[in-house]
Amino acid sequence: MTLRLTVIGTGYLGATHAACMAELGFEVLGVDVDKEKIDSLSRGELPIHEPGLPELLRKHTESGRLRFTTSFDEAGAFGDVHFIAVGTPQRAGEHAADMTYVDASVAAIARAATKDSLIVGKSTVPVGSARRLKGLVAEESRDGVTVNFAWNPEFLREGFAVADTLRPDRLVMGSDSAAAEATLREVYADAISRDTPFISTDFETAELVKVAANAFLATKISFINAFSEVTETVGGNIRTLADAIGLDARIGRRFLNAGIGFGGGCLPKDIRALQARVSELGLDSTMRFLNEVDEVNLRRRDRAVYVAETLLGSLEGKKVAVLGVAFKPNSDDVRDSPALDVAARLYSSGADVSVYDPAANANASKRYPRLNYVDALATAVADADLVMLLTEWSEFVNIDPAELSGVVSHKQIVDGRNVLNHDKWTAAGWDIISLGHKSEL
Ligand code: NAD
Repeated sequence: MTLRLTVIGTGYLGATHAACMAELGFEVLGVDVDKEKIDSLSRGELPIHEPGLPELLRKHTESGRLRFTTSFDEAGAFGDVHFIAVGTPQRAGEHAADMTYVDASVAAIARAATKDSLIVGKSTVPVGSARRLKGLVAEESRDGVTVNFAWNPEFLREGFAVADTLRPDRLVMGSDSAAAEATLREVYADAISRDTPFISTDFETAELVKVAANAFLATKISFINAFSEVTETVGGNIRTLADAIGLDARIGRRFLNAGIGFGGGCLPKDIRALQARVSELGLDSTMRFLNEVDEVNLRRRDRAVYVAETLLGSLEGKKVAVLGVAFKPNSDDVRDSPALDVAARLYSSGADVSVYDPAANANASKRYPRLNYVDALATAVADADLVMLLTEWSEFVNIDPAELSGVVSHKQIVDGRNVLNHDKWTAAGWDIISLGHKSEL
């Protein structure tokens, strides 16, 4: 009989996982404590922006294969496999991960399970959590019901979440049980049949694979951004530098884009939580380099604000058009977004900031209601003293500078993502400054 799955936590990760598992033929029940979210998902309406996901959600809520609930009792009676996809944000005022939601959801589903089942953690957690949670499951589960436990970290990228879930690069699972492995192999049979590597290991390795991957990616971005501080001073072309080192197969070109740095709900908090966890383990200096990675990253935001201030003399009363506030293109996620951070700082320094993002205005306005959010690029740039491209949506990468020329007050643009063609903008009479390039500032 086909396995029945639950996905607990229906945010960016959970909503995607639930819809993709339905697409693969499973009966799926999504569970969340947020009733509004559950109501919206039940109507087939996706409360987030993720390409391809609205179609899958509609298809499978209509077919009846995908349902949503706030009831753990319903989930406990339904599921053979329960995926945990709740948030693990940074604790307020600390670097460590807040495990409250994971602990609460694991305990709740272990208590609610009325049939033999498997709980599978997908959230990103500090190493050591899975072994502890396995103990919690043993304490909380009902007499006579066997609830097994495994860890299966998630590597999907927002903006590509559906493709990454249906066609992952690799699957990693940590467990100490052959039965758990057999069940997860059944869940992922489709990907495994297409030769997707399935790495079966212990709990600690599985947890560490996820944070190691994110620490590496963050380091790669800060590495090129540290070099961009050098080229901003001495001259040189940061893009050519990245292209040239990227041609070395040992290095690779991806994640070497200089700009205002990384953000989002994963990389920043994951590198901080990793440092916090290894310090707890007594390894204070082991991950200290990640402090530098974080600092280089945050300095890029300072640089963007400095460039704007210097170009405009003072920001007071100046009109700045901000293009993009999502932390990355093709997403509406503004958690720890460098673009939104820069926009808010420009506003705090007295600028009149007009923001246009194709998907993230609503989320950004919840966080910083005072910025002037507009629903079209042309409205944002009207009469602007300065245009700042801060998220590289293709709509911005493909702007024709000639079209904006008559609309703005001053033809100057800061390319915070290193995606614009200098020759094209200069030929249209614009002053263009890209982060990582030397300027007279
Ligand atoms: P999110 O904030 O979008 O979603 C978390 C959901 O969990 C929310 O809907 C929240 O209401 C729900 N929740 C909280 N407590 C709950 C409980 N006790 N029971 C049921 N639901 C509960 O977060 P996200 O971006 O989906 O991330 C979830 C986890 O996945 C994090 O650990 C994150 O690091 C990891 N992750 C995220 C991504 C990504 O791209 N977003 C990729 C890989 C891993």
